[in-house]
Amino acid sequence: MDNNKISWAKIFSIFGLIWLASSFIHPLHVSLGGKMVQINAYPEIYLIPLFGIWRLRTEKQPYQRNRIKWMLGLFFLYWVLLFNLYPKVPFVDGTTHTTYLAVHMVGSLPFFLMLIAVAFMGKRADCGWNCPCVFDRETIGFAFRDATLKGDFWWRFRHIKWIGLITVWGYFVYMLLDPAHAYQRFGETMYETILWAYYLSFLIIPFTGHRSFCRWGCPWAATWGVLNLAGFYKIKADTEKCIDCGLCERECDMGVPIRELINAKGMIRSTECMGCGRCVHVCPREVLTFHDYKDVFKSRNLSPLERNIRLAGGLTVAGLIVLDPGSPWGYLGLAFFFTGLFGFCPTYAMIGTVVKKIKTSAGRSKDL
Ligand code: SF4
Ligand code: SF4
Ligand code: SF4
Repeated sequence: MDNNKISWAKIFSIFGLIWLASSFIHPLHVSLGGKMVQINAYPEIYLIPLFGIWRLRTEKQPYQRNRIKWMLGLFFLYWVLLFNLYPKVPFVDGTTHTTYLAVHMVGSLPFFLMLIAVAFMGKRADCGWNCPCVFDRETIGFAFRDATLKGDFWWRFRHIKWIGLITVWGYFVYMLLDPAHAYQRFGETMYETILWAYYLSFLIIPFTGHRSFCRWGCPWAATWGVLNLAGFYKIKADTEKCIDCGLCERECDMGVPIRELINAKGMIRSTECMGCGRCVHVCPREVLTFHDYKDVFKSRNLSPLERNIRLAGGLTVAGLIVLDPGSPWGYLGLAFFFTGLFGFCPTYAMIGTVVKKIKTSAGRSKDL
C-alpha cells in the first residue's frame, strides 16, 4: 500500500477513528422517547467486526489471517460476552470490585494472570492477540500501517513509556500502602489520563501509523515489555542464512531494528516486540523462529486430545476464581489449564503414566 495514496480504506478508517475517539472525548447524546441516549457509545462493537471482515478479505498471509480470526473471536468472548457479566474481581489490596474482567486494572487478579501469560508467551499474549487496543488498531486503524514512523530517531522514543511503567507500579505500591485512599487520590486520575491519551492517539494514527500508542504511550507496553526480556519469549535468528534484504524491518509495525538486534544478539529480544509474527513469516530465508515456554517442556506426556480437554475444561472451571472468589475449585481449574498448556501432567509423571510421548521442536509448525 502506498502511504501517499488515498484509498477508500483510508477514508473509512479516518471516519472510524474519529467516531471511536469521539465516544470518549465528546459523547454525543440525543433524546429518544424522553431518554437521553449516547449514540457514539462503545462503537467498537460494530466497527471492529466491520473492519475485521475487510481485514480478513484483504490479508493474504495465513498466519496474519489466523491472528485476525483469533482477535475477532477473543473480542467477542472476552470484551463482549464476559464484559457484560461484571463479576466480582479480587484485588491485591484485599478488596473485591464488581467490574469488567480487565487485564489492565492494576493489582487485579486478571492483571496478575496476564503477567504470567506474558512471562510464558511474551507480549503477544496481550498486545499481539488480546488487548482491546490491538483489535482497534489492527482493524479500524490498519489502513495506515504504512505511515509507521521508523528509523533510529523514532526508535529512541520508545523510552517515553517508562514514565508509564513508573506510574503504574507506583500506584501498585500506593494500593498496598494505603488501600483506602489510593484510588481516589491517585488511581482515578491515572486511569483518566491514560484513557485520554489512549483515545486521542486514534486521531494521530494517519500521521504515525496504527501502533504509535503501543510503541510510545502505553504503560502496560512497558510492563509487559520487561517480561518480554525476562520471560521465555524470544525470536531466534539463524544469522548465517540472513541476506540482509530488510523485508522483516519493512513489515514490523513496532519499528524494531531487527537486523541490528539479530546481528548483535542472534535474536530479537526487545521490550517492543508484540509477537505479531510478520517478520518471521515474511523472511525469504526462514532465518527467524519463535521461541517461548514450550522450549522448556521438550518432553510431553499428554495427547493432543487430552491437552485440549484440559485447556477448555480448566479455563471454564477457572472462571470460578472470579465468579466465586472464596471457592478453591477455580484454582484447581487453573492448574488443570496449565497442565494442558504445557502438555505435561506432573501426576502422570509421578505415577509413571505416559499417555503419549511427544517430542516437540520449536519452529513454524508450533508457532501458535
Ligand atoms: S501496548 Fe498497551 S495498548 Fe497496545 S496492545 Fe499492548 S497493552 Fe494494549
Ligand atoms: S519484531 Fe517481528 S514479531 Fe516482533 S513486532 Fe516486529 S514484526 Fe512483529
Ligand atoms: S527478512 Fe530474513 S533474510 Fe531478510 S533481513 Fe530479515 S532476517 Fe535477514
